Amino acid sequence: MITVIGSINMDLVVKTAIYPKQGETVLGDLFTTVPGGKGANQAVAAARLGSAVGMIGAVGNDAFGIELLNNLTKEKILVEGVGKTNTATGIANILLHNNDNRIIVVPGANFKVDREMIDQNIELIKASKLIMLQLEIPVDTIDYVLDICGQLSIPVLLNPAPARNFKADWIHNVTYLTPNETECEEIFGSDYETVLKQYPHKVIVTLGGEGAAYFNGEEIIKIPCCKTNAVDTTGAGDTFNGAFAHAICGGKSIEESVHFANAAASISVEKFGAQGGMPQLSEVNERLK
Ligand code: ADP
Repeated sequence: MITVIGSINMDLVVKTAIYPKQGETVLGDLFTTVPGGKGANQAVAAARLGSAVGMIGAVGNDAFGIELLNNLTKEKILVEGVGKTNTATGIANILLHNNDNRIIVVPGANFKVDREMIDQNIELIKASKLIMLQLEIPVDTIDYVLDICGQLSIPVLLNPAPARNFKADWIHNVTYLTPNETECEEIFGSDYETVLKQYPHKVIVTLGGEGAAYFNGEEIIKIPCCKTNAVDTTGAGDTFNGAFAHAICGGKSIEESVHFANAAASISVEKFGAQGGMPQLSEVNERLK
């Protein structure tokens, strides 16, 4: 079992050719709602590949909450650990405008994922081969989960996004840290190769269309990804993380797992939406041939 402790959002996507000026109203081109949130996305990525996945998180007592729970259930994710709160379901307001995208996330129920909720789901955590975390739930909850996992010797993969919520001492408490290049520089203040060399077998940095890299104790292993026609890179990192977790839990080495995750993520960028392009296992195996 892989357990994801993280965010569940509804993405409200507006595509517009014109941005309103202050006080102005304009007509946009398109509106869609798509399930998102880094936690839910990574859970879906791992579940589509065939991993048994449990989710600990929170939604509101509202229509988005019901829809998001149904979506996770449809993806065969265990949702007993998802609480219903009186705070509204988290949303991401995404404005797509040429190459100038603007996003406002309102965490809502995601910020109700607290220590008590972790205690209520301790059996799920104990039954897990790997815990996956991102930084869209309260920092205090991450602290608590890292303490528990340390005591119980349960491996943790932390995807440090958004990077500004990362606490420096967490690096010592995680098994894998998976920043993208920008997050890596924001967290450590130096170029990614210097960072990798400090944390062998631990930090895996994703490099967009260039693939991903880690340090094996002797040299930096840079694993390129399949060249593809990228349509929408939203959720590429989430697919990478879910697929990496699936592979590592299946007994693959770090190098093999990165290779597998690159293939999965490269498929995901070929379709619209974070979860929309996440592949099934057979598609990844096909790409790896
Ligand atoms: P994030 O989505 O978190 O910003 P990256 O941009 O580094 O993370 O992308 C994560 C992974 O997605 C990469 O390591 C790679 O495997 C895959 N990926 C991203 N962009 C592309 C692309 N243009 N073509 C193919 N694969 C891509």
